[in-house]
Amino acid sequence: MEIVVASHNPGKVAELKKLLEDLPVKIYSLDDFEVIPEVIEDGETFQENALKKARAVFAATGKITLADDSGLEVDALQGAPGVRSARFGGEGLTDHERNLKLLEMLEEVKDEERGATFQCCLAIVGPRNLEKVVNGACRGSIIRQPRGGSGFGYDPIFLPGEYGHTFAELSPEIKNKISHRGRALEKAALFLDGYIYSETHK
Ligand code: IMP
Repeated sequence: MEIVVASHNPGKVAELKKLLEDLPVKIYSLDDFEVIPEVIEDGETFQENALKKARAVFAATGKITLADDSGLEVDALQGAPGVRSARFGGEGLTDHERNLKLLEMLEEVKDEERGATFQCCLAIVGPRNLEKVVNGACRGSIIRQPRGGSGFGYDPIFLPGEYGHTFAELSPEIKNKISHRGRALEKAALFLDGYIYSETHK
């Protein structure tokens, strides 16, 4: 079976590939296709965006598509940047600049009020009206200075609840175990496992 991971983001594609490596599937990313429609992620929820992306890429490739939408919800900012995490602070910023911008906005926020949640919604869309949505979350807090060199996005400033290290200080294996994407993907992998079984035992 073939699955397209609907992303150009190498960090994300690598994480998703690693998490699906036990399934008997060949995984493609958007970079493996020449003509893919640009999908504007303008939904108000992670689910809306994930489904929109998965439907568009399935329509263009004809292959089962897994699309995610994810982001960081900061308590002290009433859930912002949320679905706007990728563009937070302006389109042209680097991840590091975005992190500094967020830290600046939280400068006056006390340690005990710096809670945040990473959210991930994964949508799987395929033939014969296959549409499945699963979610995962990871609770933690925002530290005061970026730490660590791995991962991407807000990893250097996010301290997951159960660890004394930021996402950017953890190995991909550990991050994948506890992250919002890892948790959503665990559910997606279970679903796909059952789906593949039913498709191959008809
Ligand atoms: P999208 O899901 O591609 O729309 O982008 C979500 C944005 O949320 C990313 O560009 C990152 O800024 C942020 N984000 C989502 N997941 C993670 C993660 O695991 N680590 C760090 N940042 C993340």
